[in-house]
Amino acid sequence: MAPSPALPDPALVVLVGPSGAGKSTWAAARFRAEEIVSSDALRALVGSGPADLDASIDAFDLLERIVTARLSRRLTTVVDTLGTDADRRRRWLGLARDAGLACVVVVVDTPVAEARRRNGLRDRSVPAAVLAQQHRRHAQVVPALADEGWDLVVTVPGSGGDVGSGGSSTSSGDSLSTGADPPSSPASGERRSSQGLRIVLQLSRFPWGEDPRTWLRDVALAADDAGLAGIAVMDHLIQIPQVDRAWSPIPEPWVTLGLMAGLGTGLDLGTLVTPVTLRPAGVTAKAAATLSALTGGRTFLGLGAGWWEREHAAYGVPFPPARDRLDALEATIETVRALWGAGTRPYDGERVSLPETTCYPRPVAPIPVVVGGTGTRSLRVAATLGDAANVPSTLPALDDHLAVLRGHRRDVAVTVLDLPTIGTDRDDTWARVERLRGRSAAAAYAGRTHAGTPAQHRDRYAGLAERGVDTVFVALADLEGPDDLARVAPLAR
Ligand code: GDP
Ligand code: MG
Repeated sequence: MAPSPALPDPALVVLVGPSGAGKSTWAAARFRAEEIVSSDALRALVGSGPADLDASIDAFDLLERIVTARLSRRLTTVVDTLGTDADRRRRWLGLARDAGLACVVVVVDTPVAEARRRNGLRDRSVPAAVLAQQHRRHAQVVPALADEGWDLVVTVPGSGGDVGSGGSSTSSGDSLSTGADPPSSPASGERRSSQGLRIVLQLSRFPWGEDPRTWLRDVALAADDAGLAGIAVMDHLIQIPQVDRAWSPIPEPWVTLGLMAGLGTGLDLGTLVTPVTLRPAGVTAKAAATLSALTGGRTFLGLGAGWWEREHAAYGVPFPPARDRLDALEATIETVRALWGAGTRPYDGERVSLPETTCYPRPVAPIPVVVGGTGTRSLRVAATLGDAANVPSTLPALDDHLAVLRGHRRDVAVTVLDLPTIGTDRDDTWARVERLRGRSAAAAYAGRTHAGTPAQHRDRYAGLAERGVDTVFVALADLEGPDDLARVAPLAR
């Protein structure tokens, strides 16, 4: 289960509540066991059991060390104690602030009678007088929390059964996600999520083993079944270091898309992005027009200036300076449009002249040109010449890119490339982070890839939709095969 859509993550989460209130139960339902630092559990480790009060000093020494170490690594840390010690709370808050983590207090409120009843059911119950004292302390502590500087003070009812139920909260920060309904989707026949987004799988790795054809077919069919709007294939000659080893397969995209077109799915198919350096513009126009004919018009063309010198050198393809590549980007957009237009007449445009525009088959529907890149000029080209821009989904840079793009053209269509870690639950998510993070610190990798469950990614996507993003290209660093589409499917709903 996710920590809760209403809680920031990563965060310091300090539990406050008397014995038997339901603190440990609440935490266990939301966090990984490793994330919960419990004084009872530590008493059991260094003493005879969770109720061994003689072990308290040792247990709290350890607790402080563990909390310090975890927070310094920016790892979510749930402190499960009675929570009544103001000095400790202040210390943890300071450590979390230094690490840049959100700071949350969760007050677990349970009526005295109920806590007493639960206490009585325990192997070793807390003496009645001690429990009464804890409740008095608790009642004094709760009002003080509001002035301690927490981002969020949440009160959860510790009684009444459903440990998964929500609670009320007051917030002095803006990190509380509302969970509000996203804007409704447009009425077109396009595949859009209930958040109004087109979710497209970007295929950048191809761990297809011995059978490329079956792998590609099954991935495409799974994407179609999952209700995704399309598949975009990366266009590189050598697998890029950001994705995999240089000797990993990276197929020619138009050939690959041709196979997928043969499956007759409802997916839009295209590239993200085709470097204009790799093929003459007219040849790219020809490939995309052919794909349009084969898909019944469900084709898009991602274009970029190209950036990786090595693949050009290896394949004997010229790699001119950036300025020339950006000129080529502009000229390519003009050329493909000319060749996709009606008729065969000569074309004499701003940057390009062609003696004839004889390109058959013609596209059977307009082919949107999605221009990728975040450089000053790429953004201008995307907004002024492209049908859509593609920029990384990462905040806050996305907001800067949106501002620049909209400065060029108010109603520019914006697509984003999202590189999420998606886990089926919190344990699975963090197992994936640990597997994928390479030399990055776990918290940094998790932050960069927004590691979380599909529900958490949907919360984030609501923010993208609110910003007016049209399409999210989703690439999974741990895509192995068709089964992995199950983790993407909830984003497309
Ligand atoms: P803690 O001392 O605050 O950590 O409380 P625990 O989480 O260990 O819960 C104490 C007892 O209450 C356990 O036997 C739980 O199973 C039970 N319990 C916890 N939360 C709830 C709840 O929401 N409803 C009910 N009915 N029982 C609960
Ligand atoms: Mg407990």
